[in-house]
Amino acid sequence: MSRSTRSDDPQVHDLLGIGFGPSNLALAIAIREATAGSGRIDSAVFLERQPSFGWHRGMLLDDATMQVSFLKDLVTLRNPASGFSFLCYLQSRGRLIDFINHKNLFPSRVEFHDYLEWAAAQVDDLVRYGHDVVDVRPVWRDGELDHFEVLAQVGPCSAAPVSYRARNLVLGVGLRPYLPDGITLDTRVWHSRDLLPNLRGLVPSEPSRFVVVGAGQSAAEAVDHLHREFPAAEVCAVFSRYGYSPADDSSFANRIFDPAAVQEYFTAPPEVKEMMLSYHGNTNYSVVDQELIDELYRRVYQEKVRGIERLRILNLSRLVETVRTPEGVRMVVESLVSNEKTVLDADVVVFATGYRPVDPFDLLGEAAEVCLRDDAGRALVDRDYRLRTRPEVRAGIYLQGGTEHSHGISSSLLSNTAVRAAEILGAICARSADPALDREPEYAGAPGSPA
Ligand SMILES: Cc1cc2nc3c(=O)[nH]c(=O)nc-3n(C[C@H](O)[C@H](O)[C@H](O)COP(=O)(O)OP(=O)(O)OC[C@H]3O[C@@H](n4cnc5c(N)ncnc54)[C@H](O)[C@@H]3O)c2cc1C
Repeated sequence: MSRSTRSDDPQVHDLLGIGFGPSNLALAIAIREATAGSGRIDSAVFLERQPSFGWHRGMLLDDATMQVSFLKDLVTLRNPASGFSFLCYLQSRGRLIDFINHKNLFPSRVEFHDYLEWAAAQVDDLVRYGHDVVDVRPVWRDGELDHFEVLAQVGPCSAAPVSYRARNLVLGVGLRPYLPDGITLDTRVWHSRDLLPNLRGLVPSEPSRFVVVGAGQSAAEAVDHLHREFPAAEVCAVFSRYGYSPADDSSFANRIFDPAAVQEYFTAPPEVKEMMLSYHGNTNYSVVDQELIDELYRRVYQEKVRGIERLRILNLSRLVETVRTPEGVRMVVESLVSNEKTVLDADVVVFATGYRPVDPFDLLGEAAEVCLRDDAGRALVDRDYRLRTRPEVRAGIYLQGGTEHSHGISSSLLSNTAVRAAEILGAICARSADPALDREPEYAGAPGSPA
């Protein structure tokens, strides 16, 4: 059934970004900085569902630090002279010299969030906040898909969605929280994404036990935070690993996040792609900063010395039952070694069970039908991040994120944000300057090309 819409913006934009996290923010800045001759587009707009700029606000824990160098900010790898760099931000906040004295490549997440907000405020005119994109429709002209109509919900669901039009879409919609089967979130069952806002609303204000499920960075951070902030509460960490494993951030392994690694990954045969992900998954997935591991171990040991064990590690264990009770949550945890079961009554359970990419096809609605897929049903994506589409499609859809299968492990991270934004903008400009490029795939013969 087609929905009635309001067309507040009848213009057909050159580019419409869906989502305004760091990826599309970097793109908005690249657009703002583009000069005539270096590739310029006439009109762009970004739609973001949050009421204002926000980057993982629920996990802006006081002590959490960035896992990427500040030099991999929104711009520096694209344009080290940009006025939108982290260093320019520090200068504008009057902290440049203090930061230098700190001798630190990895600012706190709170500070980086402030940097992102500072940058976002300077391109505010390009963004419509409070716009939740709910559908994308192809618009055909003379047998060709000319542009897209994008529908966004603004305000209550009962209101008619607002309609925008664009020749190129750039999806930068990030990740969605992952939960084990059968788990439903409520006031006592949380995903780590919502940790801080949920803690602010927690009743009772003096809980006696938290359970945190998971062994990755967010899980370790949640354990650390809860143990510190609630000195009367027990914190149980439940995971199937033997122990928290350290993130490999050594120099050679770190090169997997370089722009050059994207090119190598893209052109590698499938078995090499698989090998790269499996060798170097421990640079990002289910791993924890060494410093945090050391700190948690220090606390466990110190509690043993004092005979009060408030931080309990239930390793080699899995959660077999989670039941809501009037007072909180009852969980049954089973040892993978002995099958022995432990019952834990907790005020709150936090699932720090990670994230998965948003499926672009879920968002694209009817427009998904013109996109090509590989044998596994995944999007076929060109090197310039453009979704491969049927030949009669003139309009473009580009992905920022959700391209790990084609472009490698940095796909959902910040490492390549600056460079990727330039590549996407360059591709859109090149195609609008020379429409013939639309008629043949840029990387015909690349892995995954349809025969
Ligand atoms: C707690 C945490 C810490 C992290 N720290 C690091 C780090 O230190 N280094 C690193 O490299 N990576 C880190 N990451 C990975 C993270 O994916 C990236 O930092 C970054 O958020 C990717 O930016 P993005 O713009 O692609 O996605 P996001 O930041 O997720 O932004 C996507 C945006 O799209 C919006 N959106 C989604 N759907 C719609 C829709 N239908 N309509 C309108 N808007 C929509 C969302 O509201 C959101 O604002 C971290 C992740 C988490 C969860």
